[in-house]
Amino acid sequence: MKKNKMKSVFVGLTMVLALSACGGDSSSTSKSSTEKSTGSSIEANSGASAQEYTDPSKLKDEYDVVIVGAGGAGMAAALSAKDAGMNPVILEKLPVAGGNTLKSSGGMNASETKFQKEQKIEDSNQSFFDDTLKGGKGTNDQELLHYLVDHSASAIDWLDSMGITLDNISYSGGASQKRIHRPHDGGAVGTYLVDGLIKNIHEKEIPLFVNTDVVKINEKNGQVNGVTAKVNGEEKVISGKAVVVTTGGFGANEEMIEKYRPDLKGYVSTNSEGSTGDGIKMIESLGGAVVDMEQIQVHPTVVQETGMLISETVRGEGAILVNQQGERFYNELETRDNVSSAITALPEHYAYLIFDSELAKRAKQVDFYKEQGVVVEGKTIEELAGKIDVDAKTLENTVNTWNKSVESQSDTAFERKTAMDYDLTKGPFYAIKIAPGIHHTMGGVKINTDTQVEKEDGSVINGLYAAGEVTGGIHGQNRIGGNAVADIIVFGRQAGTQSAKFAEDPK
Ligand SMILES: Cc1cc2nc3c(=O)[nH]c(=O)nc-3n(C[C@H](O)[C@H](O)[C@H](O)COP(=O)(O)OP(=O)(O)OC[C@H]3O[C@@H](n4cnc5c(N)ncnc54)[C@H](O)[C@@H]3O)c2cc1C
Repeated sequence: MKKNKMKSVFVGLTMVLALSACGGDSSSTSKSSTEKSTGSSIEANSGASAQEYTDPSKLKDEYDVVIVGAGGAGMAAALSAKDAGMNPVILEKLPVAGGNTLKSSGGMNASETKFQKEQKIEDSNQSFFDDTLKGGKGTNDQELLHYLVDHSASAIDWLDSMGITLDNISYSGGASQKRIHRPHDGGAVGTYLVDGLIKNIHEKEIPLFVNTDVVKINEKNGQVNGVTAKVNGEEKVISGKAVVVTTGGFGANEEMIEKYRPDLKGYVSTNSEGSTGDGIKMIESLGGAVVDMEQIQVHPTVVQETGMLISETVRGEGAILVNQQGERFYNELETRDNVSSAITALPEHYAYLIFDSELAKRAKQVDFYKEQGVVVEGKTIEELAGKIDVDAKTLENTVNTWNKSVESQSDTAFERKTAMDYDLTKGPFYAIKIAPGIHHTMGGVKINTDTQVEKEDGSVINGLYAAGEVTGGIHGQNRIGGNAVADIIVFGRQAGTQSAKFAEDPK
């Protein structure tokens, strides 16, 4: 939906973060015994603790592997490169690490996991593959997709081995099984994941520099050999035997959005202000190929005034969507593009998520939404209807009909088949007004399953690796909720391993 004078909530948030970073104690000692850190505090959706970053004066001229961008993919790559015996560095342009990963709320998709087995959820890599391919309208890069699903369970194990346990499993849109893995308490995945990754980065003494804006990837004789970064307004060359680009997507770059999708000009965005497509532009200038650049995902449930995403978890736990008449109008658990189109097709172009207090307990994110003042509460459906100016009898009828559908496990109106475990009967009841917003850029640089960056002719750029939202192809024309976090962990790890291998023996 078009924004009026709207800005992403993260812009404001990052200003707070930047201020706190500026005011941080620059002499505080990091958990690493070898590096000093500057103190910055992270405070996002919920629960993130204070974080420390490496003192800028410790930035060296050379590392084995230079990682650009400290989101989930970058940190996963750093940890894997370190495990492979290399000496990696992470360079982050913002005053805090985390990027879009910090904002991710729903969870991480994975199949055939130990947690699914423990909870008797029958799933298979083939079903995960099929759902994703269906969601992507058959256009996904199938080799990348096979790699993703086949390595998703081991990625969950890897995270668990580092104290990042995603054992609370639910449905997400477009998934035929309970597959989205979340923190034990059902809370937002992003803050928990970023906190856990940074903790491990500290423990393994991997330097992580913030306020370090990479402006160029350097190469010599067809081989990448480091980057140029702006630090405190000055350019500095940092050499590396391999470079891993994990700069995220371009969902916050209005010019790029308009270039590839003029129809989305002016839409509100849910993205971090760091999602400006830098990595894509730097790699293109080296001759790297891009794919699917026009495939930009619009998420159906975004608060228009702030750009705040209302996680798919709310629908995954059983919420319904109603129009201004108080009627359901679509299968809420359809893929994001279809649900977005259904909302846009309403005369009012917005809708309300409706849920009860039991759902609010299961989906912890709701506490944060309440704090942000976007949740309307009514002791009864009638009271709620009055507050959102919907006809009370119609809304009561809609909720009662839905509860009967849950009881009979049959939604004759819209053939919803998933997220029908719980009815909506326990007051108080809640509504959140939402409409679609820019959420994910599915296009990006072309990589192979070793995460090497490819040129148009299929050859690779020696020493250059990329992972996460900066890459394109895996999601095809529509990303399934939960697949991006799977992507960044699976391919972030792979980028760390492969870049380490290259750095050990550059050819
Ligand atoms: C609100 C929201 C909720 C989401 N929820 C989910 C979810 O529940 N499940 C799911 O699967 N997906 C979710 N997604 C999508 C998912 O979070 C992202 O696709 C994913 O986290 C991207 O990770 P990344 O590591 O590739 O990039 P990011 O996490 O965005 O990290 C990239 C980092 O690179 C930095 N950077 C950029 N340019 C430069 C430069 N020139 N120099 C140095 N650093 C640079 C950025 O500042 C940023 O910190 C959500 C996205 C949003 C916005």
